[in-house]
Amino acid sequence: MPYRIAIVGAGPSGFYTAEALHRLAPDAEIDLIDRLPTPFGLARYGVAPDHQGTKAITRLFDRAAQKPGLRYVGNVGIGRDASVAELRALYDAVVLATGATEDRRLGIPGEELGNVLGSGAFVQWYNAHPDHAALGPDLAVKSVAIIGHGNVAIDVARVLAKTAAEMARSDLSPLAAPHIHGAPVTHIHLIGRRGPVEASFTNAELAELGRLARAAPVVDAADLGVEAPADDKVKQANLATLREFATVDAAGRPVRLHFHFHARPLAFLGDGTVTGLRLLAPQGERDLPCELAVTCIGYRATMLDGVPFDAARGVVPNDRGRVADGLYVAGWAGRGPSGVIATNRADGFALAGRIVAEVKPADRPGRAGLDALLARKNVRPTSWGHWRRIDAAEVAAAENGAPRRKLADWESLSAFLRR
Ligand code: NAP
Repeated sequence: MPYRIAIVGAGPSGFYTAEALHRLAPDAEIDLIDRLPTPFGLARYGVAPDHQGTKAITRLFDRAAQKPGLRYVGNVGIGRDASVAELRALYDAVVLATGATEDRRLGIPGEELGNVLGSGAFVQWYNAHPDHAALGPDLAVKSVAIIGHGNVAIDVARVLAKTAAEMARSDLSPLAAPHIHGAPVTHIHLIGRRGPVEASFTNAELAELGRLARAAPVVDAADLGVEAPADDKVKQANLATLREFATVDAAGRPVRLHFHFHARPLAFLGDGTVTGLRLLAPQGERDLPCELAVTCIGYRATMLDGVPFDAARGVVPNDRGRVADGLYVAGWAGRGPSGVIATNRADGFALAGRIVAEVKPADRPGRAGLDALLARKNVRPTSWGHWRRIDAAEVAAAENGAPRRKLADWESLSAFLRR
């Protein structure tokens, strides 16, 4: 009797888990269910548009999607079109691989002001996520505050700092590109509440900020009188890179990337729209002018009916992936927003092994049951074929060396969903 398994979320953790389950149980029927007609989750909508090397992982997922037994069910929102309880009744096991897409909040005054954005919304906007097509940040600004010293902060700074020519080979959203390329930004502030050793940048990402055409890093050498632990190569490399940045001659590069350390945000300032950020630094309080602020301080998973939720951490509590009988969680929804895409590979294999060891197939309705349920609810799922047509149209529309021109709103996507 084959396993019948539903995986909710077709991002990296969903795909790696599906692939691993297929290897361990080749006759398993695996439905990979996603709210969007476009697969790949974070690889399509989170990874920076100019990091095409990282996005290339989608080719591997595309191959996985061709495996017999694996089916993509797009345009079906769990929690909206069907519940987790309904899925659990239909399948032997349900794996939640829904990621962490809600922005963590700083919880300081002024966070609700206009042009104060979370990185989740901002990154998905410039990555052409249809839910954020109308985000409309005002980029007619000179000064931007980016809060957080992680790789997402670097992504946001780099995408704002690069020239149109530097972004030509990216798949930056066509809705965002004119705003980003036309932005008169000259000061980008990267604000960390701790020191250079505690920053969570990886070194390749940090070093890239020193190689931009029109932007130069600005680091105060006085912040660098610290040592990294001898056994931490990444932090040592980061300190060396920051020391190089402290000696950079910025002449000829009009955009400045200012690194601020030990600067704790106290409040966003402004009346309606943000005009500044109040910081608590070792020297005391100071106000930094900014007309756009992007918080890059991490993400929370979304709560789903019938699924336990740790509200403090913003994750689905679990024991090595197990949430309850027949219910599992993979990736950021269970682990929290840390690690790179490849982290999910080993995790996917471990989880698949656990599912196969714990769950016995019980001849449940599986995909036939889901199809009947969706038909009763008048929900029309999309297939891998729909995605293939979207993909082909995006690739065909690409210009000037770009890999694709993304369909960036529901209106343009929906034309491909009717066929
Ligand atoms: P992250 O690496 O955890 O960085 C979050 C930053 O936000 C930290 O500097 C943290 O400071 C700060 N922060 C958190 N709460 C704060 C608060 N209340 N006030 C001020 N600062 C606060 O997370 P991320 O940048 O969102 O990245 C998520 C994961 O994706 C990471 O594993 C990252 O490496 C990965 N990623 C990788 C790439 C890449 O490989 N190119 C690109 C993007 C993301 P503290 O350390 O003091 O808490």
